[in-house]
Amino acid sequence: MTPSLDLFIFSDALGWKLAEERQFLSDLLPHRSPCETLLGYSCTCDPAILTGTLPPQNGHFSSFIYSPSTSPFQWARYLAWIPERLIGHHRIRSFISRKCASFMGITGYFQLYAVPFSKLHFFDYTEKKDIYLPGGINGGQEVIFTLWDRLGIPWYRSDWRAGDARNVVAMKNVLTEGKVRCAYLFTGGLDAAMHAHTTHGPEVDKAFSQLEQWIRELHQIAAKNYHEVRIHLFSDHGMTDTAAGSDMLKRFESLNLKFGEDYAAVWDSTMARFWCLKPGVQEKISLWLAQQKEGSILSKAQLEKWSCYFPDGRYGDLIFLLKPGTIFVPSHMSRHKVPAMHGFAPEDPTSTACWLSSHPTEAPRRIEQIYHVMRAAAEKVAQHTS
Ligand SMILES: [Zn+2]
Repeated sequence: MTPSLDLFIFSDALGWKLAEERQFLSDLLPHRSPCETLLGYSCTCDPAILTGTLPPQNGHFSSFIYSPSTSPFQWARYLAWIPERLIGHHRIRSFISRKCASFMGITGYFQLYAVPFSKLHFFDYTEKKDIYLPGGINGGQEVIFTLWDRLGIPWYRSDWRAGDARNVVAMKNVLTEGKVRCAYLFTGGLDAAMHAHTTHGPEVDKAFSQLEQWIRELHQIAAKNYHEVRIHLFSDHGMTDTAAGSDMLKRFESLNLKFGEDYAAVWDSTMARFWCLKPGVQEKISLWLAQQKEGSILSKAQLEKWSCYFPDGRYGDLIFLLKPGTIFVPSHMSRHKVPAMHGFAPEDPTSTACWLSSHPTEAPRRIEQIYHVMRAAAEKVAQHTS
């Protein structure tokens, strides 16, 4: 028997509130605490979890930024004539995203979402490299797996490109061998089910039951091969049901401002980010945004408090955040009203991430502190084997 296993299970969008409402796996994972998330999406949260650093340090906040001189999307100009209603279907978009990623040398998670082809060449993409691999973090930080490597412990990580079912099978095989001491399982099934169906309902119940079954099976297999099995289930953020759609994008675009000349903007699902390209434009946009009731402009103090203030304005000169439960319809992420979304104020109770563990570890209070638990677990193994 191998002495111990620390199995870290990442479950995208398993919010603290959802986990507690369902008492999800509370018998197996009795050490439970809320975990404060960051403003943004998985592209903000995951680099923080993997490195223990915050967006201003690691450089990861949102996917698209205004940067025409470095844009890898010059080719998109040639597709700009095709009506968006034809090319905008998410399946066609996903197909083009897959084909284009390798053409542009992008190895990280890449989606064109619903950014119009006519505007793509103004933007650069911030997750060009695979953030799970060495050298993938923009700020140059080492990810937890490189540290595990340096410590010389046997470890395994699942493939974020493969689906959950395949990753679970692969993890079962690894745990049956009983050699690794730290393992990281990536799951995205809950996130997908809740985006498609809201946070409740039969499809979401099914996704929760499936995850529960997998974790119990993994635990059983590990228990046969390890003296001590420590399972840690955690998330990057929660999930909020959509209560309303905002047509702000359409209303904004009917103002007398020229995209690419006066301003540029990325409309994420829950926040709009503006770059002001001419004198006086920032005042005009601010004035208009201040009149919109569905959200508010984030002040420098607010952005600093949420650890996402970039003094060089690389993610926008102005950021407007919607109230929890309201999403832009359309946005540059989706043309339709998605039933549930994340990326609201981190302190909203539905945004909170979770830490659920079989063992009393130093519970992370914020998602970037999950890195330190993964580090401590590996250091403990390395000390006892050296
Ligand atoms: Zn999501």
